Amino acid sequence: MATPAPTTVPLSCPPKEIGRCATCQQPCHRYGHGGNPLCAACRAKVEAGRVKASAVA
Ligand SMILES: [Zn+2]
Repeated sequence: MATPAPTTVPLSCPPKEIGRCATCQQPCHRYGHGGNPLCAACRAKVEAGRVKASAVA
């Protein structure tokens, strides 16, 4: 079964809000409410690298 569409995203957001992660180019919830230019994995890396203690979700 060949599926050329890279829409295998376990996200509960509309497809139009899905975009490419700015770092790893993987599909993620990028636009709209709750969107982020980074995917969860890359976001975690950035957050871990931050010295700021006040991380508000
Ligand atoms: Zn990423």
